[in-house]
Amino acid sequence: MRIKKDYNNPPEKLEAVNLNQPFSQKKCQNFFNNHQIYIRDELLKLYHKCAYCETGFAGSLHRDHYRPKDKYNWLVCEWSNLLLSCQRCNQQKGSAFPLVDENKRQTEYVDKKSMKADSTRLLAEKPLILNPEYKTFVPQQHMICLSDGTMKGISKYGEKTIEVFKLNERDLLIQKRKEIVDKYKIDFKNCFGDYHDHKNENSLKKQLERIVLHLLDNSENESTEYRYVYWISVKKFKLFFEDSIPHEWMKYIHEKILVNS
Ligand SMILES: [Zn+2]
Repeated sequence: MRIKKDYNNPPEKLEAVNLNQPFSQKKCQNFFNNHQIYIRDELLKLYHKCAYCETGFAGSLHRDHYRPKDKYNWLVCEWSNLLLSCQRCNQQKGSAFPLVDENKRQTEYVDKKSMKADSTRLLAEKPLILNPEYKTFVPQQHMICLSDGTMKGISKYGEKTIEVFKLNERDLLIQKRKEIVDKYKIDFKNCFGDYHDHKNENSLKKQLERIVLHLLDNSENESTEYRYVYWISVKKFKLFFEDSIPHEWMKYIHEKILVNS
């Protein structure tokens, strides 16, 4: 989900190093090496989880160069180039940074304004890896999560992002996404089990409301780990849960509980 970062207002120390003119690659690299914890902590104020896979385990979260420093060494300390990612995504990406058109790749420092991720020069590169800080970031236009925990690319950007970060090859990640959906399926099934035994319609309605509101809360909470799974399961509620909810109650949930979602 989109992360709102003010590119014109970097953390104090990062701003200071980038103000050094003429631009010094060596100074930036040294600063970066000595301030990795500082940078991670500044990113943690905006991010609650990995920018790419949404893993929220704080111990594994690090600063990540969206444009890898091997290819873009002048962006080592550029605030708009620093994202928070888990160790696995960071390693998986390595120095990969695929573009729609390789001929548009920037290969050297030009000027200060062209360092920003939303500068004309960098946007013209059309990176294939999705960046949650871009104003145009709308994940559902590029990839969707399925109820079995796998991701499906629906644009070349989504497909490449899934491929680079191996989002469909990491068993733990797939399992965690699937567990989220399965937990709600079990809750729904238990509700209807109770209803079958006791025929208490009011109690069933209350239980359904509690479960669906819990799902909605998670889908709206920016800090929720794997929030996209919750969000997409709300948007595609019928597809995700039709095997756990009888048809007439599916209609009730849509009309009475999910009515504004
Ligand atoms: Zn990750």
